[in-house]
Order: sequence, then C-alpha cells, then structure tokens
Amino acid sequence: MDAAMLKYVLVGGGVAGGYAAREFVKLGVDPGELAIFSKEAVAPYERPALSKAYLFPESPARLPGFHTCVGSGGERQAPEWYADNGIDLHLNSEIAKADTKSKTITTAAGKTFEYGSLLIATGSTFINLADFKTPGADAGGIHYLREVNDADNLVREMKDIKGGEAVVVGGGYIGVELAACLALNSIRVTMVFPDPHFMPRLFTPEIASFYEGYYKGKGINIIKGTSVTAFEKDDQGNVTKVILGDGRSLSTNLVVVGIGAKPRLGPFKGQLEEEKGGFKVDASFRTSAQDVYAVGDVATFPMKMYGDRRRVEHVDHARKSAIQAVQAIKAGEKGETVDEYDYLPFFYSRSFDLSWQFYGDNTGESVIWGLDQAGASGSKFGAYWVNDGKVVGAFLEGGSPDENKLLARVARERPSVGSKQELLSAGLDFATKI
Ligand code: FAD
Ligand code: NDP
Repeated sequence: MDAAMLKYVLVGGGVAGGYAAREFVKLGVDPGELAIFSKEAVAPYERPALSKAYLFPESPARLPGFHTCVGSGGERQAPEWYADNGIDLHLNSEIAKADTKSKTITTAAGKTFEYGSLLIATGSTFINLADFKTPGADAGGIHYLREVNDADNLVREMKDIKGGEAVVVGGGYIGVELAACLALNSIRVTMVFPDPHFMPRLFTPEIASFYEGYYKGKGINIIKGTSVTAFEKDDQGNVTKVILGDGRSLSTNLVVVGIGAKPRLGPFKGQLEEEKGGFKVDASFRTSAQDVYAVGDVATFPMKMYGDRRRVEHVDHARKSAIQAVQAIKAGEKGETVDEYDYLPFFYSRSFDLSWQFYGDNTGESVIWGLDQAGASGSKFGAYWVNDGKVVGAFLEGGSPDENKLLARVARERPSVGSKQELLSAGLDFATKI
C-alpha cells in the first residue's frame, strides 16, 4: 500500500512545533500541505508556564490560555487555528518509526506517511532517578515535570497534601522554580542537591547566595552537597522518606525531581549525525539527511557569535530556530538562501517576586554589582562577565523590559572595558552607555 504523501511534516508539537506552524502559515502553505504529529494530547503550548503560573494556588494558568505563540506576544493558536489554516494536527500521535532514506515516518498506531521536508522538534525528556537504579525511585508521589499531564498530576497532589512536606531534588531551573511553587501552595519544602549552590552552571556563588537567602526567608530548607541515595515507601507504595548520601533522612509526602533533561532523538536516532547529544545541524538547521531539519532542544547548531557549536534547552532558541528552519525550507524552494542563524543566548527565570534575565556567555571573570543593596525595596543587582577585556555576558535581577533590552545589547556588542572597578561602580549605567 502506498503511503500518503505530505509536503511538510513536523514531528513534535511543543514550543518549536507551534512557532514553526506559525511561520509556515506566514510564508504560505496550502490546505493539507502541513501535518504535525505530536505525542501530547493538546495543541502546542508555551512550556515555561508549567513550572510557574500553572502551579499557582490562585488563578492558575490553564489551556487554552497559553497555547503558542502568546509567550512572545503573538496570536494564541488554539486547536481551531490549525484547522482554520488547513494544518492537520495529529494529537496523541507518537512517531514510532522513521526512515530518512525512503523519507517516511510511521505513527505508533502503524500509519505511514511520506514527506517532502521533515522538521524534527521532539524536544527533551527528564532524566529519571530510576535510570540510576536509585532504590525506591518507582514510589508513588515522586514527580517529574515536562508535559501538561505531569503538571496536572502535581497540581492534584499538591492539593491533597496542603500543609504537608515536599522534598525537591535538584538545584537547577526546575528545582528552583518548583520549590517556590510548592511553598506558595503552603507546602513545607526541603531542597536537596549535590552542587555547592543553586544553578551552578550559570550563577556565581555570590549570585546564588542572594537567591538562597531569599528562599530561606520564605521558609525553604536547603541541603547542599549531597544526593538522594534511596526512597522509602508505605504499604500503598507511596513515598514516605528520602534517604540522603550524608546519612540524613527526610520524611515527606511528595518529591519533585529536576536533575536535568536529555534530548529526545526517538526513531531518528542512528539515522542522523549527532553531536553533543543532539542532531548536528548547519546554520539553517539542516541535519545530515536530505530534507530533514532539527530544531529546538534536539539540535546542536553553530553558535556564530562564539565560533563553537551548542545545544540549547531554552524557549527563546526553540522559537527562533523553528522560524529559521521554516524560512530556510521556503527559501530553498525558490533557489534562495537565508542568513545564517546568529543566536544570542538568552535565559531567564521567575519565582516568588523575583525575576532575572541573562544574555550572552558566562565565561571569563564575573563582576557583580549592587549585591550589598539587593533585596531592599526597588534595588536591583546584576553581573557582567568579562573575557579578554570584553563584556561577554550580562545578568540582571529585577530589570524592567527596557533595562533587559540594554543587557541584550551589551552581550551582543561585547564592548571593551578598562577595569573591573569601572563595571563595579557603573553597574547598570554601563549598559545604558553602550
Ligand atoms: P518541547 O517543547 O519539549 O516539545 C517537544 C514535543 O515533541 C512534545 O510535545 C513531545 O511530546 C513531542 N514528541 C516527542 N517525541 C515525539 C515523537 N516521537 N512523536 C511525536 N511527538 C513527539 N525555557 C526558558 O527559556 N524559560 C523558561 O522559563 C522555561 N521553563 C520551562 C519549564 C518547564 C517545566 C520545562 C520542562 C521547560 C522549560 N523551559 C524553559 C525549556 C523550554 O520549554 C524548552 O527548551 C522548549 O520547550 C523546547 O522546545 P522544543 O519544541 O524543542 O521541545
Ligand atoms: P538543569 O540541568 O537546569 O538542572 C539540574 C540540576 O540537578 C543541576 O544543578 C544538576 O547538577 C543537578 N543534579 C544532577 N544530578 C542530580 C542528582 N542525582 N541529585 C540532585 N541533583 C542533581 O535541569 P532541570 O531538571 O532543572 O530542568 C530540565 C529542563 O527544563 C532543562 O532543559 C531546563 O533548561 C528546562 N527548564 C528551564 C527553565 C528556565 O529556563 N527558566 C525552567 C524550567 C525548566 P549538575 O549541574 O552538577 O549536573
């Protein structure tokens, strides 16, 4: 039997999937030309909401409120939007098999389609403690967070244990954002992680100490420098205790684990060149196979600014890489090319009434300003990273949208700086003068 032919196929209906669909519509697709296959049961949405407003005790965010592309000020693409634009959105449709030579994909239900161009946007999945054979890791009440159904399970259980206790494993993005959400839900929280401080890959010890102090002020207990070695469970199989490497044990009603993500290469693994855990792509997100593109978390791409290749697990890149790939596909049809992807790293987080943004590269020496005043009403603090006499990265807590734009400009332009003292005394003013 011949497989149905689809001109454009998008595998993955997450952030990149939603933004790619919008770009296809913008550049022109005829009804029936674009099909999206997503493992999830809902249309593409802005995933960052899941570790923030989705978990708030009052007026939580709920779908359809945060479908893409509202996160960047765009139109809300509810399921009707796909139908109205002639896009076949196949939900609950995991792609289980693929063959990049015959240019076919097959759903878990066994339906095969042939594609003209394929965009892989399968994102990441969480690293599971069961992968490390941690005893008791299969207990009930141990949560991970990636998709909306994970968030729904967590919301249900937070309500059940209101006033109870939770252990958060990990001091990265999920750990820091989830600890705050649990506390907002009147749950007593203990965070446990092996690192010396919060967010060790980005924060300096000084920056981390501000956030850790703030969290302690909110009643959150922080245990650093040790890992979870086992969980104990009750007769129903629910978690009751977390055993730590330093010999301590913590009674708990619930556990949230955020110990990192791994790209989901799925059925494409082994068929495409890989690098740094993702699919190796060029500056237009083309993989090693003809007419196959990979975007978002799953792509290892050339970082023009720094002359290296990286994989980035953040929403801004998911959006921009999807747009770049679709523009490249459409330009290629006319025999044209697009400018190479020129990404400026941008990371951010929000919790309680804190909000920080970071642009650029955190390499070289860090210079932290305003920290002695941080926490006082209206005061801000920030950091610059200086490498080879140039400011290459900029961080700001509590910045306004305009101030954050200044940060981006600094990181993009990489201005020279005379001395560390100059940055220390200028603080944010340094950015305003660029
Ligand atoms: P995803 O958005 O993960 O989408 C991938 C989609 O593909 C999913 O729907 C998945 O089910 C589907 N899929 C996977 N395999 C298959 C298959 N074989 N067949 C069909 N479908 C498949 N970044 C920030 O910059 N700021 C934030 O505040 C922030 N908050 C976050 C909060 C949470 C809880 C999480 C998990 C991530 C957060 N991130 C944040 C990271 C950001 O959301 C990701 O980098 C971004 O979603 C990546 O987009 P993507 O399209 O590559 O993957
Ligand atoms: P991260 O990589 O941000 O953080 C994981 C943290 O867990 C690291 O500090 C890691 O330490 C630590 N860790 C590793 N192993 C263990 C262990 N056995 N026990 C305790 N701690 C451990 O991943 P997250 O899980 O926080 O986030 C998952 C994904 O979601 C990422 O792609 C992230 O970018 C994304 N996300 C982004 C957000 C944002 O941008 N605001 C918000 C929420 C999620 P080490 O560094 O030493 O390995």
